Amino acid sequence: MKKRNKTIALIAHDNKKSEIVNWALKNKTTLEKFDLCGTGTTAKLISEATDLKIKRYLSGPLGGDQQIGAKVAEGKIDMVIFFWDPLESQPHDPDVKALLRIAVVYDIPIATNRATADYVIHSDKINM
Ligand code: PGA
Repeated sequence: MKKRNKTIALIAHDNKKSEIVNWALKNKTTLEKFDLCGTGTTAKLISEATDLKIKRYLSGPLGGDQQIGAKVAEGKIDMVIFFWDPLESQPHDPDVKALLRIAVVYDIPIATNRATADYVIHSDKINM
């Protein structure tokens, strides 16, 4: 059976969208090796800026975080890059917490800031 590519989910709250787009531009060559998915707006902005193919789930506040959480539970997402906003409350905060929780339950890397994202994207464990 063909081994599937590892899958990375990309999510950023509004005040963090330019940061994740810049991060994705900088790491485009590495990201190309993975299957990518993301919440609606984040995926759209990153694919427009980078030309990377990204499967789009719903926008976060409309259930996108929950969709990604479900894929984590199914074992279909191997890593989450989630730049959440620590300075502004979100209407879908319960969904945000649920996603952070499920990533811990299934022990997958979840990078919540740029410094961590830089570490994990270049890790041998994810690039094997
Ligand atoms: P968005 O969702 O990418 O659709 O903006 C992200 C979020 O707010 O969780």
